[in-house]
Amino acid sequence: MTLPFFPPDLFDNERDALLDIVRRTGLSPSQKFILGERTAQFEDALRAETGAAEVIACSSGTSALTLVLRAMDIGPGDEVVVPAFGCAPLASSVVSVGAVPVFADVHPWTMVVEPYEVARAITARTAAVMPAHMFSVMADMPTMRELARRHDVRLVEDSAVAQGGVLGGVPAGRWGDAGVYSFVQVKTFGTVGEGGAVVTDDAELGRTVRMLRNHGQDGRARFVHHLVGYNSRFDELVAEFQLHRLPGLAGRLARRAEIADYYTERFTPLVERGVQPPPPGRDGRCFYVYSLLAERRDALKAHLLTRGVGSHVYYPAPLPSQPAFARFARPGQYWPHAELASARTLALPIYPHLTDAQVEHIADAVCDFPGGPR
Ligand SMILES: *Cc1c(COP(=O)(O)O)cnc(C)c1O
Repeated sequence: MTLPFFPPDLFDNERDALLDIVRRTGLSPSQKFILGERTAQFEDALRAETGAAEVIACSSGTSALTLVLRAMDIGPGDEVVVPAFGCAPLASSVVSVGAVPVFADVHPWTMVVEPYEVARAITARTAAVMPAHMFSVMADMPTMRELARRHDVRLVEDSAVAQGGVLGGVPAGRWGDAGVYSFVQVKTFGTVGEGGAVVTDDAELGRTVRMLRNHGQDGRARFVHHLVGYNSRFDELVAEFQLHRLPGLAGRLARRAEIADYYTERFTPLVERGVQPPPPGRDGRCFYVYSLLAERRDALKAHLLTRGVGSHVYYPAPLPSQPAFARFARPGQYWPHAELASARTLALPIYPHLTDAQVEHIADAVCDFPGGPR
C-alpha cells in the first residue's frame, strides 16, 4: 500500500531527539523513570498551554477518565450519560468505577452526541454527563455545560481526540469540570508509547486525581495510602519527548486542518453520489481523523485499496451493541444514528506529513469512486 492509514514513519524526524532523550534519562544520576521532574515540567507546559489550574499526567486517556470519575466519587448507584457511538473507554471507564453507562444517540452527520438525547437520558440517578469529541468535530459544549448546570450533574469532557481544538475561544478540555487528553500514538498529540492527562480548574478534584494516580499517596509521605488508588503513573521518557514535540503541535494541527479543508472542498459535490464529507469550518474542529459517511462504505474502502490508499472504520458497532456493554442497553431503547454511523463511516489518512501530491491522490481516489446512489 502506498499510503497506509497508520503511517509507519510518524516519528522519523524525531529519531535522533528520541535517542538522545533515552540516553539522557537512562544515564541521569537520579535514575528516575516515572513521575520525576520531566513529568512536572510537562504538566507545567500543558498548564501554560491550556490555562488550566491543574494538569495531571497519567498513564492513558482511559485511566484519565477513570481517575476523574473516581475523584468525583461516582460509583455504584450512579449513572453517567455517554455517547452511544465512540470508543470503548467511554463506557468501560464508567463500568470500572461501578456506575452504569446510559447511552445517548448521536447526530447523524457530525456523529457527536446530541444534547437533547443527553437531556432525555438524565434521571435522578445521573451523577455526570460525559460527551466526547468525535473524529474532527467537537461536541456542543455550550449546551452540555448548560444541561449539566440545569440538572446539577458533573460535566466530564472526553477531549481525548481534540487536544488543540478550540470552540468559541475555549480550548478542548476546558469546558467541563474536568477534561482529558490521550497521547497514544494515533492521537493528534500522540507519542512513542502510552500517556494521558487530566485537565481541571477544580483544585480539590485535581488533588484527588493526583493521589489516585499513584496508589492514593499524597506525594509527601510515602507508603501512606489515603485512598484506594491506581497505578496510573507517567513515564519520564514520554514526558521529555512530549516536551520536545509540544512546540510543533500547533503547526501539525494547522496542516491537518488544511488537508481537511481541501478534502471537504473536493468531496462536497459527492453528496449526490452517497458520499458525505464532514461539515466545513475550523471553529470547534480538530482533525484527529477525517471521517466521511458513505452509503456504500465497504465498496469505497475496497476501491481506495486498489488505488493504494488505506482507510479505517471507527467504529464498526455502536457501544450498546458490543458484547461487553449490551447489558447496559435498556430494553426498547434504540440508537438509529449510531447504527447508521457504524455502517457508513470511513476515515481517510490525514497525518500532517502527507505531501500535497499525496493528499491530491487520496482525494482523486475518493472522487473516482464509481459510487452512485444505491
Ligand atoms: C483514544 C480515546 C480514549 C482513550 O485514550 P487511551 O490513551 O487510548 O486510553 C478515550 N476517549 C476517546 C474519545 C478516545 O478517542
